[in-house]
Amino acid sequence: MSESLRVWFLASEVAPFAKTGGLADVAGALPSALKKLGVDVRVGLPFYRMVRDGGFATRMIRERLKVPLGEKTLVGDVLETATEGGVPVYLFDLEDIFDQPELYGTPEGDYADNLERFAYFCRAALLFAKEAGLHFDVVHCHDWQTGLIPAYLKTLYREDPALSHVASVFTVHNVGYQGLFPADKLAACGLPATEFGPEGIEYWGKISLLKAGIVYADAITTVSPMYSREIQTPEFGLGMDGTLKRRSADLYGILNGADYSIWNPATDRHIRANYSLGDMKGKAECKSDLIHEVGLDQRLAGRPVLGIISRLAAQKGHDLLARIAEHVVRLDAGLVILGAGEEKYQTLLSELGQKYPENMAVMIRFDEPLAHRIMAGADMLLVPSRYEPCGLTQIYALRYGTVPIVRATGGLDDTIEQFDPKSGEGTGFKFADHEAGAFLEEIKEAVKVYDDKTSWKKLVKNGMRADFSWEESAGKYVLLYEKVAKRALPIC
Ligand code: ADP
Repeated sequence: MSESLRVWFLASEVAPFAKTGGLADVAGALPSALKKLGVDVRVGLPFYRMVRDGGFATRMIRERLKVPLGEKTLVGDVLETATEGGVPVYLFDLEDIFDQPELYGTPEGDYADNLERFAYFCRAALLFAKEAGLHFDVVHCHDWQTGLIPAYLKTLYREDPALSHVASVFTVHNVGYQGLFPADKLAACGLPATEFGPEGIEYWGKISLLKAGIVYADAITTVSPMYSREIQTPEFGLGMDGTLKRRSADLYGILNGADYSIWNPATDRHIRANYSLGDMKGKAECKSDLIHEVGLDQRLAGRPVLGIISRLAAQKGHDLLARIAEHVVRLDAGLVILGAGEEKYQTLLSELGQKYPENMAVMIRFDEPLAHRIMAGADMLLVPSRYEPCGLTQIYALRYGTVPIVRATGGLDDTIEQFDPKSGEGTGFKFADHEAGAFLEEIKEAVKVYDDKTSWKKLVKNGMRADFSWEESAGKYVLLYEKVAKRALPIC
């Protein structure tokens, strides 16, 4: 048998250490699934303030690692911890840049030194691996924050005896976040000036770290088959479609999975009462508890309660929600919204909540336990995204017997099947056009089914039976790693 594949898994957020969205869930769960398949995987993450203060057991393993960056040499430490699944996690500490209240910026905007912060992380991760003799076959990196890694491997370390054989896989979790910086920051990336051109990391006169990942990686993946096709079109590619199309032979869509050790109503520690397909009593208790917790009228216990758990960004379609909120209130449904992000949407949703206090509760913050309680306590989950690479909340909702109503795009389209009351087949409701009327129609359709208890039960059960565990997708990543790894063939 050949030796285990060695994979260096680098991401800018990893649950439970640091999270703003779905990337953290993926980077928290996929390594454990890979480990179960025999991969020797280690994870790397910046040592943000949030990680430092999170109460995780860590130990120092490398003090004063010297990392050249442009004109400067930065000196930082590396600490070690582990995931619950026993995967080693290395934390890259540089107090001056990672000791900030948030990961990437505040609602007013991104941190000004983001390029330096993540260039440091990328370079430090490679230098540490080299120095510690970790002998990785593949670096699997994620989103623009790690886009420089494939570029470094193909330029600075092309001839390096310890790193030249390392292959790279770059996963695009969202093509809307392109890591754009002014061209005069090139020196801080540490790349030769020759790489700044349309075939390299230049994007219309700027540096794009997302483009760096796409151009230099040996293989590119994205998080659903549908999104992998969409991003090669002008409508969804957001300017990267040409670059992605040029790499289409090396571009794969691998659907994200759900970590059912965290997102499972039968074992969830955050919810009022556990429940499962065989015993649904707890769901009603969770609903009543949620209504009480967020301050809605108890009469809504007998009406449909619609939940939203989302980053607040243009992508997520909250403008549609604002346009239909009044109609939802007229249906005498409840709306429970949990979100954090851009100022504009925080204000928009807060104002709606104030306008309809009887039916709507809006919580503007990041709150993991409350996310679980909404997942369990709501009857339906709304995901009206403009585009959605994969989307995890609708997948989790299925397991909680909370019926998703989604825009038919990207992973939402791949994971939700339209319910047909006649045949009793399907797991949720989908609308095609990003348009308020179409969204409202599906909500009305869902409420109609909700009022027919037999159909509703069938629909809920269909969703709870669906299985999106990581095993199958992790297997696809292993096949891809094997394909790109430039390993010497074992001598028989
Ligand atoms: P994205 O990656 O675009 O943020 P996903 O649906 O893939 O969207 O993943 C979102 C993840 O972030 C889910 O685990 C969801 O529960 C979580 N999440 C989003 N917003 C919040 C919030 N305000 N509080 C708690 N969890 C949140």
